[in-house]
Amino acid sequence: MSFAYVTAAERVPHWINGAARQSHSGRSAAIHDPALGRVVREVGLADAAEVDAAVEAAAAAQPLWAAAAPQKRARVLFRLKELVERHTDDLARLITREHGKTLPDARGEVQRGLEVIEFACGIPQLLKGQYSDAIGGGIAHWSQRMPLGVVAGITPFNFPFMVPMWMAPVALACGNAFILKPAERDPSPALLTAELMREAGVPPGVFSVVQGDRQAVERLLAHPQVQAVSFVGSTPIARHIYETAAKHGKRAQALGGAKNHLVVMPDADLDQAADALIGAAYGSAGERCMAVSICVAVGNIADALVARIVERAHRLRVGDGEAEGIDMGPVVSAEAKARIEGYIAAGVEQGAELLLDGRHLRVPGHEHGYFLGATLFDHVRPDMSIYQDEIFGPVLGVVRVETFAEAVALINEHPYGNGVACFTRDGRTAQEFTQHICAGMVGINVPIPVPMAWHSFGGWKQSLFGDHHSYGEEGVRFYTRYKSVMQRWPDNRGNGPEFVMPVNQ
Ligand code: NAD
Repeated sequence: MSFAYVTAAERVPHWINGAARQSHSGRSAAIHDPALGRVVREVGLADAAEVDAAVEAAAAAQPLWAAAAPQKRARVLFRLKELVERHTDDLARLITREHGKTLPDARGEVQRGLEVIEFACGIPQLLKGQYSDAIGGGIAHWSQRMPLGVVAGITPFNFPFMVPMWMAPVALACGNAFILKPAERDPSPALLTAELMREAGVPPGVFSVVQGDRQAVERLLAHPQVQAVSFVGSTPIARHIYETAAKHGKRAQALGGAKNHLVVMPDADLDQAADALIGAAYGSAGERCMAVSICVAVGNIADALVARIVERAHRLRVGDGEAEGIDMGPVVSAEAKARIEGYIAAGVEQGAELLLDGRHLRVPGHEHGYFLGATLFDHVRPDMSIYQDEIFGPVLGVVRVETFAEAVALINEHPYGNGVACFTRDGRTAQEFTQHICAGMVGINVPIPVPMAWHSFGGWKQSLFGDHHSYGEEGVRFYTRYKSVMQRWPDNRGNGPEFVMPVNQ
């Protein structure tokens, strides 16, 4: 099996009705290699007619897929799991070339996506209904979960394989047809995923990829045959998706941006905390929704902690993500680099102390790449834009507070509530923290608490719009609707019409 055309294609196509299909919309977007800082191919952007073609194929294919026994769908997913394992490196290389993250990190992303496929292989157990034998008058009562039909996923650039896998395997396992609208900056992993789906036995139309931008999204949101929309991306777009989907009567889960805090208590092991901060702040150049961007130093440890962070940050190796021994690749685009540099300038202007300045970094042989070095601010205050906004780059800010209570209040007042962590050796502090902190995912001495596939991923406050978190049992609930059935077989007694609420006496 060869996927050469996916990786070599000069124009990345859609995947509609089980085959690659070029866009004829006349619109396209450039795809950059961020380490080289130049355009390497382009992607056609769907117009409404191309979205409609994908929905039509999906709607036609879905009933037969839904009618298959859940175990049969699980077997297809099992084959997909094997194929993804076999092609982990192909997927990872595509991710590294279009996103910029290091190859080992890209392999980690594939692995975390794979774990949701593994979870979805257990769908027969998860779709088992509930049954009450006799609720009165010879009536049996059961409930079951039914697929929604055609559902869509709109995903961000920063995890071009993992985030689509938060959605598609669960949606498919539940009997839906799934249409993916990946980010236009790194669309190729979605195409390779589509090929692996076909190879695994996913029927044409059941999994589709529509490449595009806002136009494609708006059509998916308005299309009467799309029943539900899952979104992961920035908060302003997440809010728009949630509101527009609701206006069109669709179910929506929209995961937004983040500003994740890591609290370091005076009793914490400062070396461990500094190691954790370095990985969580600068891994993937800070382009993770679970990246730590604020360190809250409690009590008198700030100076000692900051010294440890600086010392470690100096040792970070920044370069092309495919090269050996690199810790941090480039950011995704020239625009992202300029935006992050703008925040660094604003931090200086607003009075934070810039201890490490990642601007002006040069990577030999990659002079045009979108590289930034690790950046560290101390004495960050809550009124500064580098505290309030999601920067989505390798920028860590340290806020100094006196007490644990101040740290908790600070975090709870922030509009985002995705991930949060507390480093401490005290069990009581950990208990108080997990109980009172307002965030969807909490780590105790774990800097990036991303839930495993059989739990569910999602934030609070402006990090999530909707009722359901992603994947796990929450995902099964999102991609199914509940049906409650009462059944009685006729006997010869004929009671005549009844006008009173039936109750068991
Ligand atoms: P983004 O919001 O710019 O784009 C996400 C998706 O929305 C893309 O597919 C894009 O094409 C589409 N889109 C962009 N603008 C649109 C518009 N005006 N109307 C309709 N659709 C539009 O996000 P991004 O830059 O690709 O990804 C980074 C963001 O994603 C960060 O804010 C990060 O925190 C967030 N993110 C969140 C999670 C989470 O689980 N909460 C996970 C990963 C990333």
